[in-house]
Amino acid sequence: MFKIDYHIHTNYSSDSDADMESMILSAITKGINEIAITDHVDYHIKYEPPHYDDLISKFNVMKEKYKSKINMILGVEIGLESQLSDTINEFISSYPFDFIIGSSHSVCQKDLYFDNFFDGMDKKTAYTLYFTEMLKNINSIEKFCVYGHIDFISRYGTYNDKTLKYSDYNDIIDEVLKLLINKNRGIEINTSGYRYKLNQTYPQYAILKRYKELGGEIITIGSDAHTPNYIADHFEVAYDMLEKAGFKYISRFKNLKPIFISINK
Ligand SMILES: [Zn+2]
Ligand SMILES: [Zn+2]
Repeated sequence: MFKIDYHIHTNYSSDSDADMESMILSAITKGINEIAITDHVDYHIKYEPPHYDDLISKFNVMKEKYKSKINMILGVEIGLESQLSDTINEFISSYPFDFIIGSSHSVCQKDLYFDNFFDGMDKKTAYTLYFTEMLKNINSIEKFCVYGHIDFISRYGTYNDKTLKYSDYNDIIDEVLKLLINKNRGIEINTSGYRYKLNQTYPQYAILKRYKELGGEIITIGSDAHTPNYIADHFEVAYDMLEKAGFKYISRFKNLKPIFISINK
């Protein structure tokens, strides 16, 4: 099986200290065939976006150095905010990305981790707003390939019970999934929930299955690793979920276009 990890951060992300080379070496050791370097760009007051020109220079040196051992593709994880769509669309068009993850890290210009987004809102209102804004993001931002960790808000909720059950939000989540499918965009399975001891993937199985039922075919798999040891972490769980949900393929990307690869072992 051709193995990929399509969500990897390095020290070009403000929340990682990992040198790019250490991530590549870990991926090679773990038998990964292709990785996407997807450092953060969030046009948000709390973040300084990385210097992508520097990142690309380093990326090109590393790609050449390790080309006989692993394939590397240039990606980005960009924080989606419909209010900032012009800036985001301009950034995306400025670099030769093969793969773009669009993620919701902030909602209505409030960062889910650093700001007080949840204050004064009950869980149902806050989580519904998160998905409603997602619809606006999908409609206003061009070119991203997959929506990142689609039900990630449950990691940040400040409620006693912060879990998010698909069945409690099925109408709005179905709208999001249908719009993504309509626009030929995919979703990722992100395994970082295991790192945070939340013992789940993002999305949870029910949402993955629903995406398939609605006709969705484009799936990538990513560890969201910020340190070398978490590359490809818990991927066996993700593959089991994919098979159970009826997927036969996952996707690689080139020039922002999916290439389907079989997940048969
Ligand atoms: Zn993210
Ligand atoms: Zn990430």
